[in-house]
Amino acid sequence: KLYNEVQELKGNIRVYCRIRPFLPGENRKSSTIDYIGEDGELVLVNPSKQGKDGQKMFKFNKVYGPAASQEEVFLDTQPLIRSVLDGYNVCIFAYGQTGSGKTYTMTGPHSPTEEERGVNYRILNDLFHISRTRRDTFMYEVVVQMIEIYNEQVRDLLSNVGIANTSQPNGLAVPDASMHLVQSTSDVMDLMQTGLKNRAMSATALNERSSRSHSIVTVHVRGVDLKTGATLRGSLHLVDLAGSERVDRSEVTGDRLKEAQHINKSLSALGDVIFALSQKSPHVPYRNSKLTQVLQSSLGGHAKTLMFVQINPDAGSYSETLSTLKFAERVS
Ligand code: ADP
Ligand code: MG
Repeated sequence: KLYNEVQELKGNIRVYCRIRPFLPGENRKSSTIDYIGEDGELVLVNPSKQGKDGQKMFKFNKVYGPAASQEEVFLDTQPLIRSVLDGYNVCIFAYGQTGSGKTYTMTGPHSPTEEERGVNYRILNDLFHISRTRRDTFMYEVVVQMIEIYNEQVRDLLSNVGIANTSQPNGLAVPDASMHLVQSTSDVMDLMQTGLKNRAMSATALNERSSRSHSIVTVHVRGVDLKTGATLRGSLHLVDLAGSERVDRSEVTGDRLKEAQHINKSLSALGDVIFALSQKSPHVPYRNSKLTQVLQSSLGGHAKTLMFVQINPDAGSYSETLSTLKFAERVS
């Protein structure tokens, strides 16, 4: 309840910054992050400038240091999951340059241990758990879609899975993507596995491709109040965005340049939409990219948005980190 009130005040947009730890082989002494405050402050240090001149402070709803666990991060998303079951539309994004931990936060590393599992798994687990505890009063039906957006085109990642007959056609569905009825977290994980395989099939190198496309797992929840028969609909989009790194135009041509331009366009369109929403602007420019078109009905209005802004603390990433933090500052 309190959370909802706070949300109303904040315009339903939250920005959480997560700094990933140094990986084996990286130079731990070269961190660009100097200070992490309890209230979401962070100081970025320019490695080539001495003293105060090289420092810049940013403030977000929350900052996670490199030691933050997957569980800790997940716990902060929990109120949003309640919202989905209460009939809200929620979008959770991971934004940042390639290698900053977007996929780690959303999905976890490759073959994760229980502790390493990302928010997607934890959220779905929680969703099914809460719906079971409410089963005497509500009947919930959960339907999943999974797509990728690559070069401004939507691709259904579950098109080869037998399409379950769902009784849930709804205005929030991603158009032209199949819908799959699921009963448990493991059903969803199986679908995600299939989706990931489908993603890989068309890519020569999965990592390459996955860093240049947006992947979206959409969960639709329909709840029927067993006493009154009233129906609630909520939805949740879990979005692992394409890498935000800028590509040097002088160095790439052809397909690579086209990809870079599409990514650039869609990430700035997303920034513009969230900025317009945060300003309560009467005109929200949804039409400027496929990504914002697909998510239109789930951004704004009664919707809640959470963005994980991912940081690689390495000195070599300084200028990308600065532009990531500027993006995040604008939308928060
Ligand atoms: P992105 O999806 O942004 O390209 P990844 O999620 O693939 O980045 O992360 C890059 C590397 O860093 C991976 O090896 C990943 O396992 C590791 N990593 C990212 N975040 C963390 C973290 N919080 N703790 C431990 N390892 C992490
Ligand atoms: Mg990734």
